[in-house]
Amino acid sequence: MLLGALEAGGTKMVCAIGNEKGEIFEQVSIPTETPEITIPKMISYFKEKKVEALGIACFGPIDPDKKSATYGYITSTPKLAWTNCNIVGAFEEALGCPVGFDTDVNGSVLGEVTFGQAKGKSSVIYITIGTGVGAGIYIEGNLLHGMLHPEAGHVLMRKRNDDTYEGKCPYHKACLEGLAAGPAIEERWGVSARELKDRAEVWDLEAYYIAQALTGYILTVSPEMIILGGGVMHQEQLFPMIRSYVKEMLNGYIKTEEIDDLDHYIVPASLNDDQGIMGCLELARQAL
Ligand code: ADP
Ligand code: ZN
Repeated sequence: MLLGALEAGGTKMVCAIGNEKGEIFEQVSIPTETPEITIPKMISYFKEKKVEALGIACFGPIDPDKKSATYGYITSTPKLAWTNCNIVGAFEEALGCPVGFDTDVNGSVLGEVTFGQAKGKSSVIYITIGTGVGAGIYIEGNLLHGMLHPEAGHVLMRKRNDDTYEGKCPYHKACLEGLAAGPAIEERWGVSARELKDRAEVWDLEAYYIAQALTGYILTVSPEMIILGGGVMHQEQLFPMIRSYVKEMLNGYIKTEEIDDLDHYIVPASLNDDQGIMGCLELARQAL
């Protein structure tokens, strides 16, 4: 089965060819410009390879509701050139094959539960902490959409009282993304996040906010595993700090095997940063 995979991001479009086993045969990256420029380039790539189906995991907000008139559209995105872009329609028409579609983070969680460390689990959350913060939620065997799709990167935070930074989110200021995404770290401390590696206070505060959000997700969604990816999570020292704050914040309230073993409960992504593309292959397989 020859499947196409598209991980659509605000800065780059990763296009790949693979199969239903999650094997990736080749991969290219195309810069994200306007739809008029970028979509035809991607179409010609997939057309030449004669894919049988395509899976798209896309930056959002998007409309993933098959019953909606704007299903398959990127909707009210801050990346204005892409507002109201019918991305699924463009590929369906040009390729004439089935197209699967979901959020970028739902693609990543699907990759992890189909091919990665979360295989066999039925409720898993994947959170990316990079330029923005987003969460893909797989719950009792299905990707969660609900009314729209979760936007769990924007949950409101209780600020720590020693933090004077007001927060970067244009909508909420001090939501998780506004306090803890890469650009917020850089604005708060005035240097690039990579250069802050040895500043313990930076990662202590970062872990505090991430843990606060995870505690909320644990209490509402009750996931069996929480996977953390994205550029900021390359700071591996964050993991033990996050686990320790989560333990403190739950304060003994939840008693399960998972919570007793946080080292295997709050974990880094497992597929060498290919979880998103592999999730797209599964979206393509399901569309077929
Ligand atoms: P995107 O979210 O755009 O897909 P990334 O997940 O790579 O891309 O996130 C980019 C953000 O992550 C940047 O804001 C950058 O500051 C931060 N970042 C990238 N690498 C590191 C690192 N090694 N340590 C800390 N922060 C990083
Ligand atoms: Zn926000």
